[in-house]
Amino acid sequence: MGRNSDLDKFKTRDFSIRRKLYNICSVITVISLSVALIETVITYDSNYYKLILAGVLLLYVAITIITAKLKKTNFGTGATAFLIIFFYIPFSFFTGGGVCGDAPIWILYAILYVSVLMIGPIKKVFYGLIVLVMVACYYVSFKYPERIQSYPDNVEHVYSLVAIVLIGIAIGIIVDYMVNLYQRQRIQSHSQMQEIKALSDSQNQFFSSMSHEIRTPINTIIGLNEMILRENISDEVAEDAANIRAAGKMLLSLINDILDMSKLESGQMVIADESYHPGDMLSDIVGMLWIRAKEKNLDFNITVAHDIPDELSGDEVRIKQILINVLNNAIKYTKEGSVKLSVQCEKLDDNKVNMIYTIEDTGIGIKKEDIPYLFTAFKRVDETQTRHIEGTGLGLSIVKRFTELMGGKVTVNSIYTVGTTFIVEIPQKVISDKNIGEVNLEHSKNVEKLSHYKSRFEAPNAKVLLVDDNASNIMVESKLLRDTKVQIDTASSGAEALEKTLAKEYNLIFMDHLMPEMDGIECFKAIRSQVGGMNRNTHVVILTANADEEHKILFEKEGFDAYLAKPVSGEELENTVYRFLPSDMVNVLGSAEEIFEETISWMQDNKKKKTVSVTSESVADIPNELAARYEISVIPHMVKTDEGLFRDGTEIDTQGVISYMRKPEHHIETRSPDTKEHEEFFAEELKKANNVVHISISSKVAHSGCPSAMEASKAFDNVTVIDSGHLSSGQGIMAIEAAKMAARGKSAEEIVEEMKHLKDKVRTSFVLDDIDYLARSKQINPKLANIVKSLSGHPVIMLKNGKIGLDSMIFGSRRYAWKKYINSTLRHEGGIDKSILFVTYVGLTNKEMEWIRDRIAEKAKFEEIIFQKASPAIAVNCGPGTFGLLLKEL
Ligand code: ADP
Repeated sequence: MGRNSDLDKFKTRDFSIRRKLYNICSVITVISLSVALIETVITYDSNYYKLILAGVLLLYVAITIITAKLKKTNFGTGATAFLIIFFYIPFSFFTGGGVCGDAPIWILYAILYVSVLMIGPIKKVFYGLIVLVMVACYYVSFKYPERIQSYPDNVEHVYSLVAIVLIGIAIGIIVDYMVNLYQRQRIQSHSQMQEIKALSDSQNQFFSSMSHEIRTPINTIIGLNEMILRENISDEVAEDAANIRAAGKMLLSLINDILDMSKLESGQMVIADESYHPGDMLSDIVGMLWIRAKEKNLDFNITVAHDIPDELSGDEVRIKQILINVLNNAIKYTKEGSVKLSVQCEKLDDNKVNMIYTIEDTGIGIKKEDIPYLFTAFKRVDETQTRHIEGTGLGLSIVKRFTELMGGKVTVNSIYTVGTTFIVEIPQKVISDKNIGEVNLEHSKNVEKLSHYKSRFEAPNAKVLLVDDNASNIMVESKLLRDTKVQIDTASSGAEALEKTLAKEYNLIFMDHLMPEMDGIECFKAIRSQVGGMNRNTHVVILTANADEEHKILFEKEGFDAYLAKPVSGEELENTVYRFLPSDMVNVLGSAEEIFEETISWMQDNKKKKTVSVTSESVADIPNELAARYEISVIPHMVKTDEGLFRDGTEIDTQGVISYMRKPEHHIETRSPDTKEHEEFFAEELKKANNVVHISISSKVAHSGCPSAMEASKAFDNVTVIDSGHLSSGQGIMAIEAAKMAARGKSAEEIVEEMKHLKDKVRTSFVLDDIDYLARSKQINPKLANIVKSLSGHPVIMLKNGKIGLDSMIFGSRRYAWKKYINSTLRHEGGIDKSILFVTYVGLTNKEMEWIRDRIAEKAKFEEIIFQKASPAIAVNCGPGTFGLLLKEL
């Protein structure tokens, strides 16, 4: 855009506006200083004051000239502000009556000068300087009033008046200038808005007419091609014709996408709110897509939850478009395996449900780094893999925009080379609470009939009028209706149509929308009110290339009986004729052979996916019973010994690890699951739930699984990894709390939010027998470990801000250390949540555990105390004789 507004120039440091303001201020300042000089000359005897003021004036003029010569407004404003603040204000304050003179008015002027002319951090510095000088002046005048010199002959009033008038005029001019600037800017932006609107209107007009112009020839291509497919043709010709049809449809969907995109961009997309049956909608979708899956030998599974309402309200057409797009992609980008669509709903408030459509494939997958760009218009990702697959990169961006327009969201979870899952959630109003029940598959059977087409009926007595200005449209439509044997008349304009409707009664009229001179709507109105017309009550169906919601509403309002979007298929034309003809006129030919294969498995599913699944790691030391009760899945850490690599908890147990560790020559270490293992774990978990909240071990401890979990989660929009800042049962307490919230139906966002608070309330600490194992596993500084060891102390370690640190050192016998640890951990008994206490231990005997239980009971009464054996991975790091009291504070 060539025109830059004044204000923009100002903001973008184009100094012309600032320079103008600077010039205005310079003139005002020169006049003010000159008047002040004249006043001084008149009233003061002392030449000293006159000289100072003349000096200030000269200096100021010099600054102004230099600024003008060098065109350095920054220098000019800075130097002027400096002069006013440090020379003129103190000077006039101390020589001109202090607070009663004209200095306070100059302070106001200085503030205005800085606020209008300065930009950037320097502005704040100058504000600071003004305040400093002002406070200093007022302080001195308060403390040492004798230092303030009044004007001779008490002419303060005159000085003050002159200053007020001058500065007042200055402020007026500056404010006036700014207001004008603002007004100009407003007018300019208003006219720019108009221009943009006009541009967007003409762009829409362009897209709309382009869409119309392109649809007409495609109509001819697809229609005539359908005629070829109906003939008795060789396999080779049939294959060619099938390819032409596929290419025609591709072109058509491209035009539709571009048109949708332009409407979405200009904010003109209208979302319908009409009742529909989700069962029928799903049936239609399956009917359109199963053949594509079959052609690629893919399994196509559909699972529908039993509690989906039978009737909803929303934009069925757009939801269909979204699902077809995502399912189409799933089929397109999958070479072998399956494509699954599962449909569920969640009850929301206000008689609404959140419809959740999950589309899962076993295809090429999407790289983690590509996921953020997936929904960008015209962006195709992983071009090496997708180059040979038809596509424009528009589909998903339209999917996202539509979904969001309907108040929903679309998320993606994918493992590269393994498969992708898209989850589309759309809130819909419930019209009928009745459950969906058995989904009727009849619709799905009305699939594309490839080359074996047969007409469903004949109606040789029916009279149909086709009105269209385009000869090839008329030719195609007549041919497509040929097998029904209806009598067809045609008219190439509104006027010709009216001649025909005057002369003959028709059973049905197909009317083109956009025609020169008289368009379809005008012609329709004329037929309805035609004096002597024979078709005032005949059904009229409009054929349009503008099949969007706005036009649909318009056609309904105008009173058309139905509308068909171009290009129309033979089947649609026939169905419409069938619908509007009286039954005694129609001779049904028996149901045509349907093609329906076993490829689709359509199931009513009673097992609902959970909304949120909470997961954690084996090192979270969650007792099995609790993990099962709260359905917490756990990913194992690995324990590496000289004998090999074992999965923590399942393939190796703590007792085994302890005896193995006792021999110093044995090497043992732990390894957290890597990114790939996490990815597989999350993918598996997403089969059970729509969202996963993973509570990971603190990222700041050695061998933490958190970074790889975080990395893996980038591939999954629906997986959130929370750095618990804890380990062992401290981490476990968080996982249990999260799982309890999930069971109460809380959303992933709510759980994540709560975990942030809980993190600070959980206390993770352990008392160790000695520090050897921590040092061996590099969890603690080896130098520190040596000192502690030499003093044979029992270290108490604590997690603070996610880091393992030495909290204290207890010297003495083992039992003494334990008792002290218990007493100090439970000392603020009132502030502890007493519902549960974890005593997580490594290598304790039953007797020792009893002893610990008794000591705890002496300090506090817990509803439940759980003794939990630490996982091998934790045991390796702490060594036998370790236990910790893990709790939550209130
Ligand atoms: P396109 O017309 O290229 O399919 P989309 O907007 O529908 O455009 O998709 C954008 C890109 O996202 C595709 O080019 C493809 O790289 C990737 N993509 C979409 N769906 C899948 C999927 N199910 N599996 C793998 N990649 C996919």
